[in-house]
Amino acid sequence: MSSRQAHAHIDLDAIAHNFGLVTEKFPDSKVMAVIKADAYGHGAVKVAQKLKQADAFAVARVSEAVKLREAGVGQPICLLEGVMDAEDINYASMYEFQVVIHSEYQLDLLQHAGALRQVWLKVDTGMGRLGIRMEELPHILSRLGKQKLLGLMTHLSDASNPASPKTREQLERIHALSAQAGLPALRVLNVANSAGIIAHPATATQWVRPGLMLYGASPMDNGLPIDALFPAMTFFAPVIAVKTVKQGESVGYGGIWTAERDTRIAVIAAGYADGYPRETRPGTPVLIHGVRRPLIGRVSMDMICVALEPEDAVDAGDNAVLWGEGLPVEEIAGHAGTIAYTLLSGVSSRVGRIYRGAAHG
Ligand SMILES: *Cc1c(COP(=O)(O)O)cnc(C)c1O
Repeated sequence: MSSRQAHAHIDLDAIAHNFGLVTEKFPDSKVMAVIKADAYGHGAVKVAQKLKQADAFAVARVSEAVKLREAGVGQPICLLEGVMDAEDINYASMYEFQVVIHSEYQLDLLQHAGALRQVWLKVDTGMGRLGIRMEELPHILSRLGKQKLLGLMTHLSDASNPASPKTREQLERIHALSAQAGLPALRVLNVANSAGIIAHPATATQWVRPGLMLYGASPMDNGLPIDALFPAMTFFAPVIAVKTVKQGESVGYGGIWTAERDTRIAVIAAGYADGYPRETRPGTPVLIHGVRRPLIGRVSMDMICVALEPEDAVDAGDNAVLWGEGLPVEEIAGHAGTIAYTLLSGVSSRVGRIYRGAAHG
């Protein structure tokens, strides 16, 4: 892969370091590392191979889990959205996936196929998205019969906002359910996402499910990077032209930027088809030789433009950093009106990934 094309450096040692912070904060919890969406753009197989210390992995879709098994990943793999049809069930039994049951129809499917294996029951304690209603728990439990129940799962809706009372409420609900029901397996809880781990010590239960923090980005609403986390992805793209735009001339679609004086600009070969959002506002910093220079004009499909200063020694072939080392992804997300999650998971497949710290053997 030529570094003359947009590419992302992925530092697997940084991911291992961030994993270590999870276990430092919650030493008594088992860790289900969330590597859905190709490990938030970092490459799920590579990340799974690196994280030998993970007690389990979690993905959203069956196809994601199959890829991991086919690459030889041996740890438990949990399907966060469970199964939808007979084909999913076949894969789940063949590859021994853990399955989340969030709706009663999934119980019908699994029991019909006689293939109920290791299941997590997901309860809706306030997210309002997936999960059985709390009052339906006894009914669902009565239908589970002798199937292997791994525990109760729930998802936090507001953990990224430390001031919200919601996290405490959700915790109270899941603990009440756990205490009420007789089965020992129901005392096994699986609750915290990254924001829970970072900001809510009370979310430490038997299992935790960190995603974003493993990749070194902050899930918190304040949008500030967290020093202790090491960013794992640096997104590079090459300068492919340097030129001078005369005073009064405009740059890019719609001519939304006009030169107030003769200005040298750099054209960089990455655009929204690579995952640099079109919504990114003019003025957003781009790093060239470690110096911040402002984005000008609209983001195109394959290119962006940056204004240079007269003293900048920039040539075609030089690499710019769009986010990562020296330019926090949280900051760029703010300039694009979005969150680090969308930027990282949105880096497209034409952007090559170059790995550092890959696991051996
Ligand atoms: C994506 C996801 C997570 C991980 O969330 P982060 O905020 O990235 O830590 C945990 N649990 C469920 C159910 C998820 O869908």
